Amino acid sequence: MRALVKTAPGPGLELLDVVEPECGPDEVKIRVLRAGLCGTDLHLFEWDEWAAATVRTPMTIGHEFYGEVAEVGEDVTTIEVGQRVSGEGHIVCGMCRNCRAGRRHLCINTVGIGVNRDGAFADYVVIPATNVWVQPADLDPDLGALFDPFGNATHTALSFPIAGEDVVITGAGPIGVMATAITRHVGARFIVVTDISEVRLELARAAGADLAINAATTSLGDAMATLGMKEGFDIGLEMSGAPAAVADMLATMNHGGRVAMLGLPHADYVIDWGRVITHMLTIKGIYGREMYDTWYAMSAMLQTSAPLRDALRSVITHRFPAERWPEAFEAIRSGRCGKVIMDWS
Ligand code: ZN
Repeated sequence: MRALVKTAPGPGLELLDVVEPECGPDEVKIRVLRAGLCGTDLHLFEWDEWAAATVRTPMTIGHEFYGEVAEVGEDVTTIEVGQRVSGEGHIVCGMCRNCRAGRRHLCINTVGIGVNRDGAFADYVVIPATNVWVQPADLDPDLGALFDPFGNATHTALSFPIAGEDVVITGAGPIGVMATAITRHVGARFIVVTDISEVRLELARAAGADLAINAATTSLGDAMATLGMKEGFDIGLEMSGAPAAVADMLATMNHGGRVAMLGLPHADYVIDWGRVITHMLTIKGIYGREMYDTWYAMSAMLQTSAPLRDALRSVITHRFPAERWPEAFEAIRSGRCGKVIMDWS
């Protein structure tokens, strides 16, 4: 089968003909139809410090995918060959304190598909049956490939109750745009989105933002004045990893405001702790998706909301057949893109 493999430490990838993975007794083998590129894949391609410290070669990368079940292990009773599925990319141990308490997203022994074991940029991927999410047979395959980042957006947006609240979202990349649509769906009052890319701001407006402002020229204080807001934002969703965006957000949170942080910064940075303390702000880090409450929430919201489905589709800007994988990586490296999807069918 075809697989996009990191063959040795260092930059680059190779599309190789490799042996198909075998399906263990409690595993499922999936014929990959679509796969999404993530910032993590770019780090792996370019081989930064994190990649060098994390990955053992050879390794097939890729963790955002949708496909069709090709084989199930002998102990698997709940999944059938032919079903269309997405996959949770984090495999948990099941035995640490958090796992045993049902908080599997907080597992301390998480193994990443496409990072620590062979992933989905291939014709077939094998994952534990517990990581398989069965999708409706008529789901658009492109949407199926978005469940990993859609799950990040859902996990972040639903971290705090947002019905009737004023929400600020910093960063209008694919996950910020999806979070905008979720926040609208759930019933926030005002939604203000910041970014420095006009293309991305336009996507945020289409997804339901009341105001999408260019942070290079407009502050959140200006946005509050435009909307007639007097007291500050109740909820902040940080999707940028940009210290300046975080500073602007913290400066406009209402007393008792709550902030969910998903964007990863490149390095340590300073924040105004005096303001966090005196305004009694709550700041919560977010990673991955809750297993599997986030997945239930995603499927339920998509089932009933055409605007949410449209917003998800809108973040896909590039589609390439798998053979043209270098162009897919070039698109994501350029930064002038939303979500990039590879077609492995
Ligand atoms: Zn665990």
